[in-house]
Order: sequence, then structure tokens, then C-alpha cells
Amino acid sequence: MERALVLIKPDGVERALIGRVIAQFEEAGLKVTALKMLKAGNDQVSKHYTDDESWLVSVGKKTKQSYIDKGIEVKESEREIGLRVRSFLVNELTRSPIVAMVLEGNACADVARKIAGATEPRKADPYSIRGRYSNDTYSLADKKQRSVRNIVHVSEDSTIAEQEIKVWFTESEICKYERPDESALYG
Ligand code: GDP
Repeated sequence: MERALVLIKPDGVERALIGRVIAQFEEAGLKVTALKMLKAGNDQVSKHYTDDESWLVSVGKKTKQSYIDKGIEVKESEREIGLRVRSFLVNELTRSPIVAMVLEGNACADVARKIAGATEPRKADPYSIRGRYSNDTYSLADKKQRSVRNIVHVSEDSTIAEQEIKVWFTESEICKYERPDESALYG
């Protein structure tokens, strides 16, 4: 089985969505194997959102395309957008408590990202967490000089998940147990 790291960001905690967010992952058959609420520090968030070139460029690419689609000219390079977003994310994720969890299940990161929805809530499927509980946009977030408030972070794939899990949990904090519905799900 694969694993994924999920963070309920400060906006999700403040809007009292912790239970509803966890329920959606659990209902899809993903098992919660670790869970904690914490006030994240700068170091931890900087380790999570690394300054890895490919991540910076991929964040910038997504944002740039959404501006181009709206006919808005963007002068910043993709990397510059990535760096700006990363500093917004450090501020946002350290400003108030978050909930961190590890999920486990078949195609875990892929399924959890589908449940989370697209990065920009305004564009996200209305049945996803981000589409259902938020209406934020890149342009509003940029104007307010903060990261997009989209309730959750979910690891991009299972390799990245293993790196991210190490930032927030020790292996001894991750529990092993069986859900009675596992044989119905995977048998
Ligand atoms: P995710 O994997 O769907 O969370 O998306 P990314 O890895 O591309 O971006 C990480 C996070 O940065 C997103 O969840 C948003 O909170 C934030 N973000 C991404 N792009 C932008 C942007 O252009 N402007 C702002 N203000 N925030 C952004």
C-alpha cells in the first residue's frame, strides 16, 4: 500500500473543517495511520516546501497559465513566481495551527489529490474539498500577498510522500492496524 502526507492548513482548521476533511479521505478507503495538531515552525515548512528547482518552476507554470487564460500579462519568470509563493506558504503555514496526518491505501496520493481537488479552489471540482469549501483564486491570494487558501495539502506522489512524511512524523508515530472494511476494499 502507498502512503500520502496530508496537512489541513490554517484556513481548514480555523473554519472547523478538520472532521469533514478527514471523513472524506476515510470514506474513500484511505486509512489514517498518524495524526497530530501542531504550530509549525519556519524550518519545518521550509523543509516541506523545498527550494527544489523543479517544484519552484512547476508552481510558477501552473500560476502563469491561469493568468494567461484570463488574458493577464505576467512579467515574472516561473521560478520567480515559485519563490514568491514559497515565501507566502511559509508565512501562511506558520501563522496558526495545522493538522498533519499520514494516509495509507491503494494509489493513496493519487486518490487523496482527487478528493482534495485542483490547486485553485475557484477551478476545483465542486465535489472536491477545495471546490466545496473554498472559492479562493490565485489573483485574490496574490493581491492579499498570501498563499491560496485551499484547505489542504496532499503529497503529489508516493515518492514525494515518503520525503514529506519524514518532515512531520517519526516512524514510531505511525500506527499499524487493520480496518475491518479492508477485505471488502482490497480482498
Ligand atoms: P498543490 O500541490 O495543489 O497544493 O499546488 P502547488 O504545489 O502548485 O502549490 C502549493 C501551494 O501554494 C498551493 O496549495 C497554494 O496554497 C499555493 N499557491 C500555488 N500557486 C500560487 C499562486 O500563484 N499564488 C499564491 N498566492 N499562492 C499559490
